[in-house]
Amino acid sequence: MTGVPIDLIAVIRAIANRLPGDQSLNYRSAAKATNGLPVYEDMGGVLVLCENGDVLRYDPETRRVEIVAEAKWRRVAYAFAARTYLELQSLRQRPVGAVECPVCSGSGYVLGDAVCGNCFGMGWIQSPASSE
Ligand SMILES: [Zn+2]
Repeated sequence: MTGVPIDLIAVIRAIANRLPGDQSLNYRSAAKATNGLPVYEDMGGVLVLCENGDVLRYDPETRRVEIVAEAKWRRVAYAFAARTYLELQSLRQRPVGAVECPVCSGSGYVLGDAVCGNCFGMGWIQSPASSE
């Protein structure tokens, strides 16, 4: 996944400025440590979306920040950013040639609220004929 289709800088700044105070402590630490937008959290840490489209992982225990290179986690971050913030919906847009995920039928979730392991929350996958 390359190229971010929207002006992330302005959008993320605007969202960060109105982040509600009831954010989780880990989200607040992640935002402070990275200057980005926390969008997803699990046992591995907090995924943060940066103004340049990079995805960072913040570890609340060690306070380490690392760039996320794996496509899977970048997709999770983009999918959750798109679900959480109306302004970022285009991050989840299905590219030309992609098809609806057959596992979650396009919802991005399985078994209620578990992230679909096939599309990583995007709701679509690249069709077998095309490559990412
Ligand atoms: Zn899926």
